Amino acid sequence: MVSENLKNYLKEIEKNNKKGKKINAILEVNPNVLKEAKKSGHRSVYPKISGAKLAGKVIAVKANINVKGLHASCGSKVLEDYKAGYDAEVIKRIKDEGGIILGMANCDEFACGSSGETSAFGPTKNPAAPGFVPGGSSSGSAAAVSADFCDLSLGSDTGCSIRLPASFCNVVGIKPTYSSVSRYGLIDLSMSLDQIGVIAKNVSDAALLLSVIRGKDEKDSISQESEKINLSEIEKTPTGITVGVLDFESKDKKIDDLIEEKIEEAVKKYGWKVRKVKINYLDLAIATYYPLVYVEFFSATRRLDGRRYGKKIEDAAGPEVMRRILGGSEISKAEHHDRYYHLALKAKKLIEEELEKAFGKVDCIISPVCPKLPHKIGESISVEDMYAYDALTIPYNLYGNCALSLPVGKIDGIPVGMQVACDKFEDEKMLRIARSIEKLRG
Ligand code: GLN
Repeated sequence: MVSENLKNYLKEIEKNNKKGKKINAILEVNPNVLKEAKKSGHRSVYPKISGAKLAGKVIAVKANINVKGLHASCGSKVLEDYKAGYDAEVIKRIKDEGGIILGMANCDEFACGSSGETSAFGPTKNPAAPGFVPGGSSSGSAAAVSADFCDLSLGSDTGCSIRLPASFCNVVGIKPTYSSVSRYGLIDLSMSLDQIGVIAKNVSDAALLLSVIRGKDEKDSISQESEKINLSEIEKTPTGITVGVLDFESKDKKIDDLIEEKIEEAVKKYGWKVRKVKINYLDLAIATYYPLVYVEFFSATRRLDGRRYGKKIEDAAGPEVMRRILGGSEISKAEHHDRYYHLALKAKKLIEEELEKAFGKVDCIISPVCPKLPHKIGESISVEDMYAYDALTIPYNLYGNCALSLPVGKIDGIPVGMQVACDKFEDEKMLRIARSIEKLRG
């Protein structure tokens, strides 16, 4: 039986997705989705599954993750005709648990961006704050969940790209611990930072999908085993914990006030301790991140030479992608050896050490996901202002720990996300803390 759920989502997409005036979150609906849904959860089709954890769940996939037979365009003209010949490991795991792949979600071109405006297939609109950018780069993944086009989605996060759009679109987004989810089948932006993660309407659903995709995969050389996420534990409020509150001032004081108010509420209700946390070198995070990303992206894109897949990247990519390719080729020259890339690696080390120390003293670090509210779609902002969206999310990509975005309210009608970050491989603890705060909404 094809679930009503899927049919309703398809109707919603038909009505509200269209490029132009509508949301433009889904670039391609899986042409076999109805057929595949009929089989979802059937033991004859999925003999290996333990309990079909995702039976009937409808899942959208960011267009930089390979799903066999669908277009992994990366939101770019370069790969617009590229149909994936295989399933990424996360997709295989989802299918093994009966999940239904709805289709491919729009994104900033090659995941380069924070606003969802750089896709070659038009910007994604924000269903939760009409007129404002949805955040990027997993813009379509967040907007699709927010617009009720699907139950869940997959995104990738290199510096912000799951948490930021989740925050602007009023949904939950998780960047898991680096190396805990296989990147096999993810098209690289910056391999030392990229992480596939999940977006959902609430913490429990996000935890469910994460529990399915997590785990060691031999096809990803840096992948590591991690303890299984126990879903019933997520519902239990942790006791005796110390919550760290990041010492940082946002561009808009109302954002910090809203986050603080939520923390106070949680502390009062659950008896948690609070402590201010200062992270030295936090202000270097953006300047540290970009040289690493430019160089790694330049290297990753050398295979897009027009001979193997799609078009030559230099012939078909947009300005943000070209900035990174040109920048990456320049700063990776031997003569600049110690000036950019290696200097950035040294700064990364400093930030990592600071975060390691901090997580030794507190159970989690809480901050806004973003120090400012989103701009209007089409409004022109400087590159520096665009990069500044990620000031509070990038540090955790540099360190490699887990962090999530949790909706906690609105300012002038625009959603605001709280970032909850825990140490490496403490994803379950992070989920428990976030779920407890989520419960305060009633
Ligand atoms: N905004 C950051 C960038 O453009 C992060 C993107 C991402 O996480 N994929 O690099």
